Amino acid sequence: MTRIMAKKSGATAKKLEQTKKAPAGQKGAAKTSAAGNPLLAPWNTPFEMPPFDKIKTRHYMPAFEVGFEENIAEIDAIAGEKAKPTFANTIEALERAGRRLEDAAGVFYNLSSADTNAEMQKIEREVAPRFAKHGMRVYQNAKLFQRVDALMKQRKSLGLTLEQSRVLERYHRSFIRSGAALDAKSRKRMAAIAQKLATLGTKFGQNVLADEQDYLLVLENEQDLAGLSPALRAAASQTAAERGHKGKFAISLARSSVEPFLQFSARRDLREQAFKAWRQRGAKGGKTDNRKLIAEILALRAERSHLLGFKTSADAALEFTMAKRPANVRKLLMQVWEPARERAREEREELQKAVVAEGGNFEVAGWDWRYYAEKVRKTKYDVDEAEVKPYLQLDNVITAAFDVATRLFGLKFTERTDLPVYHLDVRAFEVTGKDGRHVGLFLGDYFARPSKRSGAWMSGYRDQYKFDGEEVRPIVVNVNNFPKGAPGEPSLLSLDDARTLFHEFGHGLHGLLSDVNYPAVCMTSVEKDFVELPSQLYEHWFMHPAVLKKFARHYKTGKPLPEALLEKIKAARNFNQGFATVEYVTSAIVDLDLHTLEEPDGLDVDKFEKKVLGRIGSPAEIGMRHRIPHFQHIIGGYASGYYSYMWSEVMDADAFKAFEESGDIFNRELAKKLHDYIYSAGGTQDPADAYKAFRGRLPTPQALLEKRGLA
Ligand SMILES: [Zn+2]
Repeated sequence: MTRIMAKKSGATAKKLEQTKKAPAGQKGAAKTSAAGNPLLAPWNTPFEMPPFDKIKTRHYMPAFEVGFEENIAEIDAIAGEKAKPTFANTIEALERAGRRLEDAAGVFYNLSSADTNAEMQKIEREVAPRFAKHGMRVYQNAKLFQRVDALMKQRKSLGLTLEQSRVLERYHRSFIRSGAALDAKSRKRMAAIAQKLATLGTKFGQNVLADEQDYLLVLENEQDLAGLSPALRAAASQTAAERGHKGKFAISLARSSVEPFLQFSARRDLREQAFKAWRQRGAKGGKTDNRKLIAEILALRAERSHLLGFKTSADAALEFTMAKRPANVRKLLMQVWEPARERAREEREELQKAVVAEGGNFEVAGWDWRYYAEKVRKTKYDVDEAEVKPYLQLDNVITAAFDVATRLFGLKFTERTDLPVYHLDVRAFEVTGKDGRHVGLFLGDYFARPSKRSGAWMSGYRDQYKFDGEEVRPIVVNVNNFPKGAPGEPSLLSLDDARTLFHEFGHGLHGLLSDVNYPAVCMTSVEKDFVELPSQLYEHWFMHPAVLKKFARHYKTGKPLPEALLEKIKAARNFNQGFATVEYVTSAIVDLDLHTLEEPDGLDVDKFEKKVLGRIGSPAEIGMRHRIPHFQHIIGGYASGYYSYMWSEVMDADAFKAFEESGDIFNRELAKKLHDYIYSAGGTQDPADAYKAFRGRLPTPQALLEKRGLA
């Protein structure tokens, strides 16, 4: 369930922007290094795509240097403005500043996640603290803060629209959160913490990737392949070929490689090996170990929140969310935890029976769960994941995701092979509206490769906004880690992979349909516990028979998914939900507990993990979906925020129910409301108000419990 990642530098609150206008750079030094740098020149490409074919790694640092310098000049000009502060001369001016820096950073941070290399990683390590320092130079600028603060104080009398008022609030918040209102000594400390955190966070991610790149389980012979379907063998053969073992089979630590292996491999010893390697990412000892690092990160975060007057990091992080307080998060998680654990206990008993029935003389362990769950699924519901996969060809699932968007929102998708992309596997689609109007560009980067961070995410090269009399349309990207098919064979997805595709595409639509005026309230600024609503809600359409029947077609025969199999999938929908809920909620509770520590200095991560899991009675054979040493969500933007998926799920379950109750899952009236209040509204309104406008009331957790079969 890896979701939107923090893609931007965080240097300023502004977003990516078109580059039609000639850049300002008047300074001599900037001019010289700008010459011939495609990151700094206007992007004269179709749709002003980043000129990927011209951008070389050596272009990034000079572009950042120019960007920093230019942005500081802009900031100084706004701060030094003689006229009294107004929304136009301060906030709108800030919205205009820092564009070239954002453009360059947008390209760099997208590629450092999706297609990195040692050189990019080196730049990433160098530049992370520089961006943090730059952000502090902007948001600790005392004169600038005075102007924003003055506006905030008279906000009610400025005649602002709701959107403008929220833009102002966001800027004010960024200044406060950077320590602008603190004394000089604390400000200095805040700046030092920001730089240190940027460095540590970069290292954390690179360590996880290094551990993933370091591991490959090579399957040497027929015995090693026991239990694997032809499709899985094809994927394993492809993985081996890509990693220099042509002619063999191999399992990597990408979720889409290791998880099916754990589900189907009859070799308990190999399952154990793969499982342990997967769990040990970031905790292998040596140079790539993240355990001390995360303790240091937590201590710095706690110190920062104390300086800002909060008791804990979680209190600070949750202030501007729908949940508001750690206690509210804990309440929701515990409401779900008890029934989930009870269900998981029942599930475990069934698995143990399956072990015994096979003549096994062992207790179900972590590396057994998926394997025996698959067996029980097969006996109890007669659904075999391997039987479903041939019906879930990647191309068809992409088409299905597009088709749902056509039926709900009238969008059209046209593949463009004439655009420069950053990797041969990347596909580009132009998106148009009902009237043929250009809506944006959608990039799909679907396959796993060693240069890609694990997980799945949506990000953007440019956000939508309408400002200064022109409308800028977005360029969004979905990045997944699906296995390629063998040469000549299509890529086949599991149900879970296909759902992930819909999930990320839901985020993509949130970016594409955005209709806001100011960059500061674009889709990526939406509250974290609301931003998973458009994505998780979209998953519901994939699982609906009306969609599955049409697009799930056998890749060889073209025949639709048999009615009987569909029925079985439906019946099996709540199967193993105890497991899924427990592994997710465990991670969410650990995240919350980590960030509600008042004094995390010198934390022993292993002991802490054990203690929390013991306290809540987490079943050892399930454990956490993401263990602390590779929990990338809590390094990126989801610190104290992993609960967000469940918070949003309360809403997505309740929201889809509205469509079901209407008797038409493409109900026009509801789709219009969904468009107007959720998918196109960005951060222009309070999330609770947005939901009420769509549904007529706030949601309750009931629909979520029903959806997971825990009610
Ligand atoms: Zn997501």
